[in-house]
Amino acid sequence: MKKQTIKEILQDYKKVLHHDITVYGWVRSFRANRFIALNDGSTINNLQIVVDFENFDKEIISKISTASSLKIVGEVVESQGAGQTVEIVAKKIIILGDNFTEELQNTILQPKKHSLEKLREQAHLRFRTNVFGAVFRIRHALSFAVHSFFNQNQFFYINTPVITGADAEGAGEMFGVTNFDLNAIPRTEEGEIDFAQDFFGKKTNLTVSGQLEGETAAMGLGRIYTFGPTFRAENSNTTRHLAEFWMIEPEVAFNNLEDNIDLAEDFLKYVIQYVLDHCKDDLEFLDKRLEEEQKTKPEKERAKEGLIEKLQNVIAKRFKRVSYTEAIEILLNSKENKKGKFQYPIEEWGTDLQSEHERYLVEKHFESPVVLFDYPKEIKAFYMKLNDDNKTVAAMDVLFPGIGEIIGGSEREARLDVLKQKMADMHVDEHELWWYLDTRKFGSVPHAGFGLGLERLVLFVTGMTNIRDVIPFPRTPKNAEF
Ligand code: ATP
Ligand code: MN
Repeated sequence: MKKQTIKEILQDYKKVLHHDITVYGWVRSFRANRFIALNDGSTINNLQIVVDFENFDKEIISKISTASSLKIVGEVVESQGAGQTVEIVAKKIIILGDNFTEELQNTILQPKKHSLEKLREQAHLRFRTNVFGAVFRIRHALSFAVHSFFNQNQFFYINTPVITGADAEGAGEMFGVTNFDLNAIPRTEEGEIDFAQDFFGKKTNLTVSGQLEGETAAMGLGRIYTFGPTFRAENSNTTRHLAEFWMIEPEVAFNNLEDNIDLAEDFLKYVIQYVLDHCKDDLEFLDKRLEEEQKTKPEKERAKEGLIEKLQNVIAKRFKRVSYTEAIEILLNSKENKKGKFQYPIEEWGTDLQSEHERYLVEKHFESPVVLFDYPKEIKAFYMKLNDDNKTVAAMDVLFPGIGEIIGGSEREARLDVLKQKMADMHVDEHELWWYLDTRKFGSVPHAGFGLGLERLVLFVTGMTNIRDVIPFPRTPKNAEF
């Protein structure tokens, strides 16, 4: 018979009631030498196993402890106790793997409360905890929903290169890729590094964005999206930045800025609704966890709404759409700015917004997700469409409560001459991007797209506060363990 997960057993228990079944899992707890809480990762809920120890070899019973892996054959019965509908009365117990009890003492598998920092140090074991089980099941559901949304809307999934020969993506500092012997790097006569002798015959990097390649695909396939690993060598040690993260980048031919904002809003609402519909148990667990955590905070700092409520509210309302110019007005006139409460005071039109400003707009002023658009051209990338005012570009950022920027995108500059001028102004090498310029030569069309960092989305949906806790093995400055 096909193996059943604990999730299936608990969901369809009527089918197996009073039958003998086989279950597999890890012991979460073993109470009174009688009750095992068994978990196999398929759900946050444990399956209760009742052990009548008189029927079993004492040695087996003595070996069962937290973290033991077991195969159990037993009868499914209605539960006597509260807290579960069914339980298994064990008939046969097989210990699958040894438990090194002494070493277990030093791990996070010890059943007591561990800090998230401690759990991070043992990231290879944290999948066994309730919190990380919930986070990674939700991360999966979000990823699945991303594909599902785009597939339903006739987008094609395109894989853009991880190793890029384009040095000019302009989205951030890059990690170089080389197979030179670092102790003997070949030099040219002028003393420069001779990349002609490197593996690819040129300087290559890890991608910071698949957009430019994505645009070329959209110019033939119409609606495309990428969803892949993305790398940025910025030394920003924040709770919202990773050196390696997963970015989703749709690109759509014939879309303008407004279409792009509509797409971003529909997309975010779809994937959040998907998780509300499919991850109820995990969300409820995280909601309760957050509620407990709130109680330890001073009243002023507590969140106004619970996790699930927060997600429902984001879906219910239309996002506020505000131009950069309006946003600057609001910030300039804010009490916070006048009283010098911002770390970076807003002085004039043209300054880049920091996350404190974004969060002020979202959390204090509008109390709603906000889409800012039409940014000053100087603070945005070269490929964004120049507006008729000659001062702003058709950029858009989606700002979320607790996160700040979750999406950044734009309508692209489709006019070859304007694009070339912008590249020259911003010192982007035209020759390097010859293939990109080709897209503006043969049937150029208006098009638009955006980038969403999956981890920022998972942060928002799970209510976790550090981005290192929503990716299995985080890569950050000075940290690439595992
Ligand atoms: P920020 O201003 O927050 O550093 P950005 O403007 O540099 O972000 P974009 O180049 O616009 O980011 O990238 C698009 C999206 O990718 C962002 O909106 C964000 O969701 C995500 N993102 C960007 N950089 C990172 C990072 N270092 N770690 C995780 N996600 C990121
Ligand atoms: Mn951005």
